Amino acid sequence: MNHALNISAVNPNAPRIDGAASAGPASLAGMTRAQLRDAAIEIGVDPKKAKMRAEQLWRWIYHYGATSFDEMTNISKDLRAQMADKFSLHRPQIKERLVSVDGTRKYLIELAPGVECETVFIPDVAKSGALCVSSQVGCTLNCTFCHTGTQALVRNLTAAEIAAQVMVARDDLAEWPTSNENRKITNIVFMGMGEPLYNLDHVSDAIDIISDGDGMAIGRRRTTVSTSGVVPKIKELGERTGTMLAISLHATNDDLRDELVPLNKKYPLAELMDAIKQYPGLNNSKRVTFEYVMLKGVNDSIAEARALVKLLKGVPAKINLIPFNPWPNSPYECSDWDQIEAFADIVNRAGYASPIRTPRGRDIFAACGQLRSESKKVRASELRKQRMDAKT
Ligand code: SF4
Repeated sequence: MNHALNISAVNPNAPRIDGAASAGPASLAGMTRAQLRDAAIEIGVDPKKAKMRAEQLWRWIYHYGATSFDEMTNISKDLRAQMADKFSLHRPQIKERLVSVDGTRKYLIELAPGVECETVFIPDVAKSGALCVSSQVGCTLNCTFCHTGTQALVRNLTAAEIAAQVMVARDDLAEWPTSNENRKITNIVFMGMGEPLYNLDHVSDAIDIISDGDGMAIGRRRTTVSTSGVVPKIKELGERTGTMLAISLHATNDDLRDELVPLNKKYPLAELMDAIKQYPGLNNSKRVTFEYVMLKGVNDSIAEARALVKLLKGVPAKINLIPFNPWPNSPYECSDWDQIEAFADIVNRAGYASPIRTPRGRDIFAACGQLRSESKKVRASELRKQRMDAKT
């Protein structure tokens, strides 16, 4: 979920456009191989040599993290000058960087004027860490436990903007060139803002860039895409990306899930479970992660834990239990710790791993569903109140 892990400060007046470019020459950072080849041809490289040039550029940009054409010493000075004339290696800028006492880092990244997203790095105790990236600015799906869902969709992010979130975080963590040892970002999770399956073309291209072994090399099995349940796109996601699948589940019956994840009205649980079972390559080493936010008195009963076990029967699964992070005036409370443990115990005894996710980065508002600014809190709580008023 979040899909509620990070919250973006978005200018609500920003134009709704699909992939705006920033001002200045086009940046090669974030381009696919095919785009780099076209860029080489554009500056006059013989089309027969364009593939080779694209490979060189790829290595400099995604393996070495080059930020200047001068670094590209295996490319002639003349050609470098021609490239610099026409293109840049510009990355989006970090507008704000917050570091939690637990090591979580939250970046507010300006993608284009007035269009900002947040990306969160969550280090693990072991030598690993996940980078949570956003796929859209805003979201069209109003999951009621999620503060992000109260923000209107501004636009889809381009593949370049998604890949750039990883590059910018690697800049900050001094992770260039790519090495297999001492890597801080070992996993990518599409659990930031937005519904990735509503932006699958760009998400898929971004995964091609991020996972490529000659570049950033964060593998597809170390990449998880989380969806709230866009049924017609689930199998396609697996076929196109080969990544791990996560489902923002949160309820075991349609009545409750209709309320928590309104997309369920369109794609109810039976259809969702059918689609999940068809996810390519599912087995015990490639399990589906089910995200389940623990809401006191709403979805945390022992009966629901048993219903969850029943629902997941036959699916290689892992369940992430997420203590709810309340936001101002939110109608939900976090389940009591004893209740979360009792719930986890039932799921565990049925043979499913069900870790209780420790909230991370609470002090910098980077935990699930937390907001970054007071003004957003006010705006979102007003919207929530309107929802509640409409129901009563
Ligand atoms: S899909 Fe739901 S949980 Fe994910 S960002 Fe949108 S509203 Fe939040």
